[in-house]
Amino acid sequence: MQSPKIEQFIQLLSKLPGLGPRQAARLSYHLLDEKKEYREMLAQTIISLTQVKRCAECFQAHEQKTALCLLCASPNRDRSRIMVVEKDMDFSNIERAGVYDGLYYILGGVISPLRPKSQEKLRLRELYNRLSKANGVKEVILATSATPEGDHTARYIEQISEPFVKKNLKITRLGRGLSTGSELEYSDAETFKSAYLNRK
Ligand SMILES: [Zn+2]
Repeated sequence: MQSPKIEQFIQLLSKLPGLGPRQAARLSYHLLDEKKEYREMLAQTIISLTQVKRCAECFQAHEQKTALCLLCASPNRDRSRIMVVEKDMDFSNIERAGVYDGLYYILGGVISPLRPKSQEKLRLRELYNRLSKANGVKEVILATSATPEGDHTARYIEQISEPFVKKNLKITRLGRGLSTGSELEYSDAETFKSAYLNRK
């Protein structure tokens, strides 16, 4: 190989989800032809990501010096509700809809019944721990997608939450304002609002 640096970059890129070795190579050579300023800015931005961490409670990305993000630390949020979402994007979309004023929990994906290992990557144990410590939480809203994997994940969380349900925790799921088969990520504010108000 002519350039070990490019080779290494391709290898690193191909670890990203959705990027195989071929796409990684295409991207790498594409970057090589970009302006030097752009490449430097990209590199610096990637380095600056090391200063971003995940909130100790909701796992949202934040840059506070504290362990908690601004939302979790805010006195203006309804601390009796936790909404469990699959991905970071879901969290941002729901916040943008401006209907929900409780707390969050970002799971980090869904359990795929066909890929048992998918479960290991999710923050399920951390969710259990949070619920066991969560004083004053009355409702957990499962906002997983209306897909077979989303349903499967919601049922799994219902199972592990049973001890808390016995202590009067209510578990709800978003109503089917979200059409079946749809991922939450793609729902607009109005759709989310009706799904939230129709939760059961
Ligand atoms: Zn947080």
